[in-house]
Amino acid sequence: MTRDADCLFCKIAGGEIPADVVRENERTLAFRDISPQAPTHVLVVPRDHHRDVASLAAAEPDTLAELVRTAADVAADEGIDAYRLVFNTGEQAGQSVFHVHVHVLGGRAMTWPPG
Ligand code: 5GP
Ligand code: ZN
Repeated sequence: MTRDADCLFCKIAGGEIPADVVRENERTLAFRDISPQAPTHVLVVPRDHHRDVASLAAAEPDTLAELVRTAADVAADEGIDAYRLVFNTGEQAGQSVFHVHVHVLGGRAMTWPPG
């Protein structure tokens, strides 16, 4: 298990910081975003610390696939059949927490392109 002692999402995955968890298993955790941007806004993270999706893809491709499957399961649980998955990668792209997470956004019409 890789862990970063200063990482917010490692602390949430470890139960040190509370979160509204909607799904979890040995490898992944899904919890509601503290500042929701849509009626459904859930973050799905691996329990292991990787800084972004490319690092996770290189190190644990099966876990990346599981993040996407979990995101689809979350959408089904929420009763939404259209949703957007977002991996912000790098500060300029909007990444603020450097522990890979996929945003599951849905429950309203989405615009394109994103800002
Ligand atoms: P990023 O900007 O890195 O793509 O996404 C980080 C997300 O984490 C943001 O949408 C932000 O609202 C969310 N977030 C930041 N701190 C917390 C927290 O303590 N708890 C939860 N549940 N979400 C958080
Ligand atoms: Zn972490």
